Parts: sequence; structure tokens; C-alpha cells
Amino acid sequence: MDGTIQRKKAAPDIKSWKPQTRAVRGGLRRSSFDETSEALFLTSGYAYNSAEEAEATFKGESAHFQYSRFGNPTVAMFQDRLAALEGAEACIATATGMSAVFYALLALLKAGDRIVAARQLFGSCHYIINELLPRYGIKGEFVDGGDLGQWEKALSTPANAVLFESPSNPMLDIVDVKAVCDLAHKAGAKVVLDNAFATPILQRPLELGADVVVHSATKYIDGQGRALGGAILGSRDFIIGKLQPVTRNTGPSISPFNAWLFVKGLETLGLRIDRHCASARKVADALAANPKIGRVLYPGRPDHPQHALAARQMSNFGGVVTFDIKGGKPATFEALNRLQLVDISNNLGDAKSMVTHPATTTHMRIGAEERAKLGIGDGTVRISVGLEDVDDIITDLTQALG
Ligand SMILES: *Cc1c(COP(=O)(O)O)cnc(C)c1O
Repeated sequence: MDGTIQRKKAAPDIKSWKPQTRAVRGGLRRSSFDETSEALFLTSGYAYNSAEEAEATFKGESAHFQYSRFGNPTVAMFQDRLAALEGAEACIATATGMSAVFYALLALLKAGDRIVAARQLFGSCHYIINELLPRYGIKGEFVDGGDLGQWEKALSTPANAVLFESPSNPMLDIVDVKAVCDLAHKAGAKVVLDNAFATPILQRPLELGADVVVHSATKYIDGQGRALGGAILGSRDFIIGKLQPVTRNTGPSISPFNAWLFVKGLETLGLRIDRHCASARKVADALAANPKIGRVLYPGRPDHPQHALAARQMSNFGGVVTFDIKGGKPATFEALNRLQLVDISNNLGDAKSMVTHPATTTHMRIGAEERAKLGIGDGTVRISVGLEDVDDIITDLTQALG
């Protein structure tokens, strides 16, 4: 899994590097060709120099790569670079963000166990907790992620896992990571935090007490809307000891090509996130000043209910803004259909700005009652603010609102 290619120079001291240096050079493995850019190893298998080397590899006594379901040099570079950024001991990359969430839970839970989750979760997580896990005898319970009292009550009963996002999709609720981790650990639970919205540039959950971090690399880590992928990070004990046997034998492996896009994506993640944050702040302020707009939710604005908490646990506030257009669904659809630059798409974290109407797309299946609990109305719109000139984004939104 950590097979080394040929290396002539002494291994660098990654721990002494600041995040931006880790993002550019962490996990770098150069082949005997001494290429400067990370190589794409589009191979499923590896040849051994001798029968003895094959035997040693299968015994776990050699760092030689074995099979790309188990490990691949390009995938290893992505895993090690992301681990260096998150401050994690180990990382396993997966085919999608959802396989990262699911496999993290699968490795933690067994029949008879209990999971407590914030209801402010990515749509498919509701299916996993409400429908899939119960088939295997695992009980789930939802709380409002922003309400510590509800966490306290749910975690007064022993639990095995806790799952939440912060900031959440699409309402940008903030969970008090430290406080919930303390409650979870007292209840005997491991905490899995989906860090897709913040990325390790803005928030490092392991430092705040989380046990496992999951990512949809599809979003900001790629950042250009090209490929699906995910990652699970945590202690060596959990990732290598518990998770690796599960993933190796069941195969949610990432394509080396996608891992190559992501390892290069990490190099510019910090620069892109800086711009996403600066532009999102300007878009949020412009929307808040528009008479056609009801409430604006952006954790960076002082009127966000959890602004102080967000400022405590994040270094900046991200690229997503959620807002309500007055006049319900008809007025909202009219405005979306008038957009000329910003795309209508359920994706996010792209260089291109995108809006989605959660009630009729990403959050349609959870039903009106659950949407009401989350605060998703018929006029609620989420914008993922891209890397275009922010003046052009604001001009387009303003003309669309009429
Ligand atoms: C998109 C997303 C996921 C799912 O990731 P995929 O790569 O689409 O499988 C999970 N969590 C969050 C917060 C997301 O935004």
C-alpha cells in the first residue's frame, strides 16, 4: 500500500511544512524517470522481480504494490497528500463521496449497534441510516445538528457512531464539533464528520476531536467538476486496522485517473478556496441587500445564527450561500430560468457558479415534512459561488431577480 518507487534524496520532513506546502508536495513519489509532475499509473496489476518477491508481498513483508484494488502509486500519492493536509495518520480514497460515508460507517458498526446523526445530512445519507443500516440490525436516530440539547439527550444512551456535516448542505447549519465529540465519546461513539463543504483548508475536524473525516472529493478537491471520488481519514488503527480489510475485499476503489486529478487539485485547493470564500461573501452581501430576497444564510455574515461558532472552528466560511426568493416556487423558478451565466445544477464546488432548488431536486425525496424541519422552503436556493469574476456573478443574479 505505501510501496516506494525509487528514491534518491532523503525523505522530507512533512511535519515541519505548512498546509500549502503539504498541498503541493505531500505524498509525492517520483519514479525512476524523475518526473516533476505526479505520474498517472494507469495499471491494475504489478510485476514481481522474482517468485520470492511475490511471496513476500502477499505475506505483507514487502512494500511492493500488489493489485490496484489494494493500492496504486497515484492513489497512494492522493491519499498521503490529503492525509498530510487533514493531519490524519492514514487515508483510504474511494470511488465516490457516498462510498466514503458508507464504508466509514460499515467499518465502525455491526448488528445491534446504534448511530446518532444530524438530520442536516446529504440526501443519500438519509437512505443509508433510515433504510439500509436497519436491514442489518443497526438503529439510527436523528437530531438537529445545531441543537446541543438534542445531542445531549440522544447521547445519554450508549451509541457506537455519530455522523454529521458542518457546514451542512444546503442550509449551512454549523455543528459545535468539540462539544458533540465530547458527548459522543462519553456515550462510547466514534465521530464521523463529512468535511466536504469546509475542506481541510477551512476546518480540520481531527484537531477538534473527530475520529474519522470523510470527503466527497467530487466537490472542492477536484474543483473543476470533472470526476467523482471520496476519501476516509483517521488513525492508522482505524484506517489500516479496521477499514482496509473491508475495502480491500469489497472494492470501492477509486480510479487512478480520478486520484491523479485530485492529487493535482489539492495543489491549488487553498488558492481556489480563498477566492470561493471572498466571492461568496460578496454574493451573500449583494443578495441580502436585494428587496426580492428573504433571508440569506452564509456563516461568514454576522446575521448567521451560528456565526460566532463558525468563526471559532473554521478559518473562513466557504463558497456556498443559501437564500430564499420571495414569492415561493413560481417566482423562484422564474428567476432561475432568467440566469444567463450561472448554471442550474445540483453539483457544487465547481469553478463554474451553480444554483440549485433543493426542494425539487436534491431534497425532493425526503418529503415536505422533513424539508420543513430543515428549513428548506419552496423559495430556497443554494448557490455554489464559482471562480468567475464576482461582479459578473452578482450582475447575473441581480438581472435574474428582476
Ligand atoms: C456531494 C456530497 C456527498 C456525496 O458525494 P459523491 O461524491 O457525490 O458521492 C456527500 N456529502 C456531502 C456534504 C456532499 O456535498
